[in-house]
Amino acid sequence: MPRVPKPAEIWTEPHAVSRLRSSRLARSVKPFLARGGIQGERCTGCRLVPTHCICALRPDVFTQAGVCLLMADIEPLKPSNTGWLIADVVKDTYAFGWARTEVDPALLTLLADPKWQPFVVFPGELVASERLVDTVQTQAARRPLFILLDATWPQARKMFRKSPYLDALPVLSLHPDQVSHYQLRRSRRDDHFCTSEVASLCLDLVGETLAAQNLQTYLQVYTHHYLQAKHQLPADLQSPAHQALRALASPLS
Ligand SMILES: [Zn+2]
Repeated sequence: MPRVPKPAEIWTEPHAVSRLRSSRLARSVKPFLARGGIQGERCTGCRLVPTHCICALRPDVFTQAGVCLLMADIEPLKPSNTGWLIADVVKDTYAFGWARTEVDPALLTLLADPKWQPFVVFPGELVASERLVDTVQTQAARRPLFILLDATWPQARKMFRKSPYLDALPVLSLHPDQVSHYQLRRSRRDDHFCTSEVASLCLDLVGETLAAQNLQTYLQVYTHHYLQAKHQLPADLQSPAHQALRALASPLS
């Protein structure tokens, strides 16, 4: 009988985005230098400098839904990438590097797995109406799998157009009524959410409110630590985001 790992062991194993980052780094000819990023030693668990590490703050929540990240080539290397945060929170997160001319067979296997009900998450205005859905009917035997294109907006459009294995899948178009709060990488489109915010909206849509709130608040905590480190200031562990994250972990206290 296979040994069931204890939760602590699960968390110490690198997740899918971490593994993708490692394999991408191994293929790099020259070191990746993040623009305006923090220099020096980084925690391998959260990518922040050790003084601003958030590993101990990582939420531990259950989700029925899974996430499949298709990441543009350089995306796993960016310190501001938020797909990493999704993998921290949603235990069934898969991550694949995207290339126009090839596809990882493991991605095709995942998309064909009957235990998953896959949806491509993409803005509806660019998609044929017969493919569009704006709600997810959860099925007992099939768990929702949200496919997120983790890339800049022009890259995401190209990925959507040039991935024939996505063509048969329904497209979930989100109608957010709030603009992005993400401060690290502002998009010129102010309705363009960062990837972890998109994942939060998807979780919310299928009724996984606690997980959605955890992911959204964890993004705020990450953003705070990142910006404080960048400006060489200490992280404020009593910030509103920290307090909200603690309240989510123990709602009765
Ligand atoms: Zn850390």
